[in-house]
Amino acid sequence: MAYYYARRARPVERRDISPPRVRHEGIKKTVIVNFADLCLSMHRRPEHVMSFLEAELRTTGSLDSYHKLKLNGRFVPKNLEEILMRYADKYVISYYCDSQNTSLVKHSGEVFISCNKCLRTCNIGLLISSASGKLRMRIIIFV
Ligand SMILES: [Zn+2]
Repeated sequence: MAYYYARRARPVERRDISPPRVRHEGIKKTVIVNFADLCLSMHRRPEHVMSFLEAELRTTGSLDSYHKLKLNGRFVPKNLEEILMRYADKYVISYYCDSQNTSLVKHSGEVFISCNKCLRTCNIGLLISSASGKLRMRIIIFV
């Protein structure tokens, strides 16, 4: 698990992902106003990021024509930011060089983070081998 700890030792603030700008509508709705920009900075489809947030928050949401995300429920910005960082950790950041200039690629039923900077590919669909040769399960959803 040496590799896993090496990754976690870095602070999340290093990432060039702007924090979510949040507006509440009434007491039951939360809108992420800059959702389109957030997805753009992570190079991911808004639908994919939305699915992850919905699963983590156990709620449903919808995208308007400007890709603003409206979530059912009242959520605080800090919580949303933490989930977005988890998303970036799982589906965006290169495992080898920490770049967020990556793409998600599907191949033979498995999912990979393909890095446009170091050009290496990491399988996130099934298993990741660590330095010690042990394997760590990762669950892939909503790709
Ligand atoms: Zn890389």
